[in-house]
Amino acid sequence: MTLSERVKNIQASQTLAITSQVLKMKADGKKIISFGAGEPDFNTPNNIQEEAIKAIKDGFTHYTSASGIPELKKAVIEKLSRDQGIHYNTNQIIISNGAKHCLYNALMALCNPGDEVLLPTPCWVSYTEQIKLAQAKPVFIRTSQENQFQLSAKQLENSITDKTRVLLINTPNNPTGAVYNKEELQKIADILLEKDIYCISDEIYEKLVYENEKHFSIASFGSNIKEKVLLINGVSKSYAMTGWRIGYAAGPEEIISGMSKFQGHCTSNANSIAQKASVEALAGDQESIKQMHDEFDKRRKFIVKELNKINGFSCDMPKGAFYAFPNISKVLKTGILYNGEEIKDSLQLANYILSEAEVAVVPGSAFEAEGYLRLSYATSIEEIEEGMSRLKKLFN
Ligand code: PMP
Ligand code: GLU
Repeated sequence: MTLSERVKNIQASQTLAITSQVLKMKADGKKIISFGAGEPDFNTPNNIQEEAIKAIKDGFTHYTSASGIPELKKAVIEKLSRDQGIHYNTNQIIISNGAKHCLYNALMALCNPGDEVLLPTPCWVSYTEQIKLAQAKPVFIRTSQENQFQLSAKQLENSITDKTRVLLINTPNNPTGAVYNKEELQKIADILLEKDIYCISDEIYEKLVYENEKHFSIASFGSNIKEKVLLINGVSKSYAMTGWRIGYAAGPEEIISGMSKFQGHCTSNANSIAQKASVEALAGDQESIKQMHDEFDKRRKFIVKELNKINGFSCDMPKGAFYAFPNISKVLKTGILYNGEEIKDSLQLANYILSEAEVAVVPGSAFEAEGYLRLSYATSIEEIEEGMSRLKKLFN
């Protein structure tokens, strides 16, 4: 059987592949420490669970309107107004099966074959493949560690061609933890307006910024830029709801309506019960977010301190999200042998670490960033302690 060119041209998600591998190894009785998939280890807060149970008991178990239930759209509108100071109406909101689904809908609604989508790297694994699925072309813009992995307005300007359709930004960033500052974002907004380019702004880690950092949405810089931005967010990371699959997008009515039309044929509505639970997540008591945030913050400081004690690892303190992103280029120069071959890249190093220390990490190459590893610290301090001690044993 021959698969379509479309599917042949994409790679499987490396983050999800590592997750399945870890689950399999654990099932085989191995004591794996996983810094692989980025998902909170906390349970979904009780008040949110209760709303889902109520929805089931009340028989809220049927199809909903394809673009989402009015109560959830209202909760999203109020959240965006409260937290970002941006005002949307109901026709400018769509609820989908996770932020991942919103991103795909957005690319499908915006891109024609051959359009260029600018993608600052390091970037999350699914962007590149989704852009390719939309028959558009990913154009990488390499950001640097020296510039805190933040795209500069100058870099953006130099990358625009007459085929550029969209800039995809992600702040706070997966995998680097970069949080874009207001000044640079404002400059980026000015260029997008001048050149008439859309922006997909993935803000899924919005609630996870540390110390004095503040999250800014590019859509909040005035009514003109708001017309060019598709803001994407969801409940997965902030409310420990990865399995519930609820994300949302806010943007110009015409694009949202195109996304709804597309979604209507592909998946219909997002899960009715999870939509009800998400109303409670966004509109209910926000105390649990603060508790999870503070716990992530402790783990962040701890893991970075420990990573910097490992020979050849050098790790900056991430400002947001829940990933540490150590530079391991020195380790790659030490000539470690694995299966008789010298380790030269992050994928080989990640495989070596998994096999020799039973610790799962994601290679930087999955994020278009050779010379780095990504470790999710959305796991307990005890697990982090054990993982770090195994890595020290392996490298020191
Ligand atoms: N964007 C980024 C940057 C992510 O890391 C994730 C995590 N899976 C998503 C979007 C998608 O999140 P979800 O589909 O669970 O809402
Ligand atoms: N976003 C998480 C990660 O980067 C979850 C897995 C995925 O959807 O890619 O690990």
